[in-house]
Amino acid sequence: MSDRANKSTQSVIVAVGTELLFGTTVNTNAAEISQMLHDIGIGVLAHHTIGDNPGRLHRTLEIAFEQADLVLVTGGLGPTQDDLTKEVIAEYFGVSLVADEEAMKRLEALFEEYGRTQFSENNLKQIYMPSGCTVFYNNAGTAPGFALQAAESEKLIIALPGPPREMRQMMNESVLPFLKGRSKYTIYSETLIFRGIGESMIETLLLPLIDGQTDPTIATYAKEGECAVRITSMRENANEAKTAVEIMVRQAQKLISDHKPC
Ligand code: AMP
Ligand code: MG
Repeated sequence: MSDRANKSTQSVIVAVGTELLFGTTVNTNAAEISQMLHDIGIGVLAHHTIGDNPGRLHRTLEIAFEQADLVLVTGGLGPTQDDLTKEVIAEYFGVSLVADEEAMKRLEALFEEYGRTQFSENNLKQIYMPSGCTVFYNNAGTAPGFALQAAESEKLIIALPGPPREMRQMMNESVLPFLKGRSKYTIYSETLIFRGIGESMIETLLLPLIDGQTDPTIATYAKEGECAVRITSMRENANEAKTAVEIMVRQAQKLISDHKPC
């Protein structure tokens, strides 16, 4: 990634949920969110996964904001006791949770649709949002998400529900339009797949490109039976990014001339 990309065009993703640590649920959200952010020119510096524990989540937010000004959190926005994301974020940003009128209306409409009249306390938990946030209403479920900008720093946090369908819809409908324009960069990548040659040999051959790389960046990834070489450029001009990658692709192919990519 280019040195020109500053802290505000980089991000960190935090996935919250003890089931992710048990391995019973695969953290597909982090992968999907990463790809969506790359598409609008926002780099991702780290993925963190943490259980439903307020102290550890608080610490993870501290670490995440040391790495980037933009942090996206997924999970823990639901109505139950272990859903603590909103509370921890509000505490971290030093704001209170306030009832959101539109969220209340939506919850009432949903209950009416299902013929239920009585809210339980945990249902009501979902209408409380951090003071001063931009609420992202959930059109695929009940838990709203939000964006919260710190008053005296560049820190911006985005909270998304955990269920992948809800996360995806909220990203597409609300978060990506909200973040568009934040980055003036375009990220362009190409991946070459090689078979019949090991990663260490590929790396040795590519050393002239790997050493001293700035933009584009070049990296090798060993997979079962094959090795991927990914070349990525992050530039203000989309054509320049594409051209830079294409030039490096040709250089890489020349250096590994005994093997053709698949
Ligand atoms: P939550 O928003 O924490 O209530 O998450 C509800 C459900 O969404 C969980 O039980 C998981 O099945 C799923 N889920 C939560 N986080 C993730 C994630 N990072 N990747 C994939 N699925 C997730
Ligand atoms: Mg959860």
